[in-house]
Amino acid sequence: MKVALIGVGQAGGKVTERLTRFDAEMGFGAVQGALAINSAEPDLESLEFADTELIGADRVNGHGVGGDNELGTEIMQSDIEQVLGALDGRVTSKAEAIFVVAGLGGGTGSGGAPVLVHHLQRVYDVPVYALGVLPGRNEGSLYQANAGRSLKTLLREADATLLIDNDAWHEQGESVEGAFETINEKIARRVGLLFASGEAVEGVGESVVDSSEVINTLRSGGVATLGYASAVAAEESAENINTVMTVARQALLTGTSLPDATTADSALLVVAGDPDRIPRKGVEKSRKWLEDETESMQVRGGDFPLESDRLGALVLLGGAERSDRIERFMERAKEAKRAQERDDTDHAEAFADDRLENLF
Ligand code: GDP
Repeated sequence: MKVALIGVGQAGGKVTERLTRFDAEMGFGAVQGALAINSAEPDLESLEFADTELIGADRVNGHGVGGDNELGTEIMQSDIEQVLGALDGRVTSKAEAIFVVAGLGGGTGSGGAPVLVHHLQRVYDVPVYALGVLPGRNEGSLYQANAGRSLKTLLREADATLLIDNDAWHEQGESVEGAFETINEKIARRVGLLFASGEAVEGVGESVVDSSEVINTLRSGGVATLGYASAVAAEESAENINTVMTVARQALLTGTSLPDATTADSALLVVAGDPDRIPRKGVEKSRKWLEDETESMQVRGGDFPLESDRLGALVLLGGAERSDRIERFMERAKEAKRAQERDDTDHAEAFADDRLENLF
């Protein structure tokens, strides 16, 4: 699937950069153009693979918006023509979808991404998706509250929102910075494979995934998730039936970008590996299992031929918002918002009616 990527904010820019680099290094050619947009100038300077655009210079002078996502929204609204101008020519006629990438807990990406998605929908005919990073459980309440509002608005504006939970794809005991590196790398490989899997591959049979299957899986809208797992494969495809079933299960149950999301409206299973090692029977059994597990009648499947001695399973779910994880997250975001409002109340007001007079 040919895509244009637009990163907003720090996390958005870094993830866009990684995805673009992975696609270029693998020679997939799925990423047609990449632009990173930010109100913080230093965050743009380290990017090599994505073009960059500074916004809000008149308001914040390249210093970013801190965690103020309302300011992030305002800046994107007032500079939207500049941003759309910068995209002109970068979203080529070849792009089959646009992905707006952002960390939902911060300011520029959290506030700016939903505005950008809204305007892209107006200008372009292709689907506009969001790729949103949810703050981990231990990130502060401002991040949770910001992400709650951003997610709510993205779900209204985007054709689908692929969510990556910052708690999902990192190792135990890593530093925050180290964890970001790991997560970004995993996002790049997994989402990068998903994009590439929809690319036509010469000389391979009919079970290859088509871009339209990715788009149809995301058609149900709402929250999308992506899972991945891989294992060493035997040379004979007949010996790999259990391997395919195991990696498909792991991809959904333990390798997913949003833990606990297993009920969905639609799903796509992509089995990646050497075509001679991929067992048709294993793929078909895994697809059936996925149908039962997700309670969805719309489970698509296909192969992604790659030179490798491993077999990998990618599981894309569409319409996966009925998950415990999302409910718990929205609860946390609402509680964080309530706590903020309590903090904002003027405590002195409680004494306003008191008969006592102030000293001065
Ligand atoms: P912005 O620049 O104002 O949009 O803010 P950030 O992009 O820094 O957004 C903050 C949120 O993104 C927080 O939830 C962070 O945990 C997360 N975040 C920041 N940098 C990264 C990163 O490199 N990778 C990932 N996965 N998350 C990040």
